[in-house]
Amino acid sequence: MSVLIVGSTALDSIKTPKAENPRLLGGSASHAAVAASFFGPVKMVGVVGEDFPKRYVQLYERHSIDLEGLQRLQGKTFHWSGEYELNMNNRRTLLTELGVFETFNPQLPASYTSSPFVLLANIAPSLQEHVLTQMRKPQFVVADTMDLWLNIAMADLLKLLKRLDGFVLNDSEAKQLTSEDDLFPALKKLHKLGPKYVIIKQGSHGSILSSPQGLFICPAYPLKKVVDPTGAGDSFVGGMMGYLASSKGGVDKNIRRAMVYGSVVASFCCEGFGLQRTDKVTRAQVDERVKELTALTKF
Ligand code: AMP
Repeated sequence: MSVLIVGSTALDSIKTPKAENPRLLGGSASHAAVAASFFGPVKMVGVVGEDFPKRYVQLYERHSIDLEGLQRLQGKTFHWSGEYELNMNNRRTLLTELGVFETFNPQLPASYTSSPFVLLANIAPSLQEHVLTQMRKPQFVVADTMDLWLNIAMADLLKLLKRLDGFVLNDSEAKQLTSEDDLFPALKKLHKLGPKYVIIKQGSHGSILSSPQGLFICPAYPLKKVVDPTGAGDSFVGGMMGYLASSKGGVDKNIRRAMVYGSVVASFCCEGFGLQRTDKVTRAQVDERVKELTALTKF
């Protein structure tokens, strides 16, 4: 089954303590779509401007991503720039140039509206909801978010949450949204806002799922060297949704394994700038790393 992914399609200029790389292919939808493409068909909705390089379109095509929903408008592609500290868990945004993203109105081609799995990757919650209103009875809808929307679009986010099956956020966002420092009271509040499945990402410490089946602790793959963690969260949720869409037996049967696959794809993402490493990875390498992670966490 296919997964529909909507989010940002961006040019990312990234600075780490060791190197600097301008105008890489980035954006929440780009990272999530490439991650999901290891497992099955992906339909992507986004917007790019006239400056969007052809080689990035070719990268999407290499991963067989359906681009019928990718709008090409006059103007500049969304440009985001971020800088990492020595501790790469800490990042600050240097620049956000919205370009064509400012007037983005995601419109689904007819062939997209019956996708059973929907990932609303990080964009404004009002746009995420606008996509949902165009869908015909999706089976499983998950959204990701970021601190910016908690700060400037909380009412929209609360409205969206009521329509979701799953919600993915990182631990600092969970604290901000619920005003709870501890996991259990935070999870209780998050479920009350709507989603049955809540996943809290903890960066290099993995992630936690809370669902009707209880808790699951998903490990992160231990990396010897992190080059650039940009897009790791998007790769995690994209990989998870791609795996779920390709699996038989329903969400409850597969979601734990799907998270482990997402975690492994995210680990590859961190090993290169932007999508440079993920672009070169094969499904066999993903499967091999899942085996390693399984062995590392078996007791
Ligand atoms: P992550 O590292 O998972 O937080 O994702 C980083 C990606 O988010 C980058 O590729 C950026 O292009 C994208 N991004 C940054 N700011 C925004 C924003 N305001 N809306 C949507 N996407 C964004």
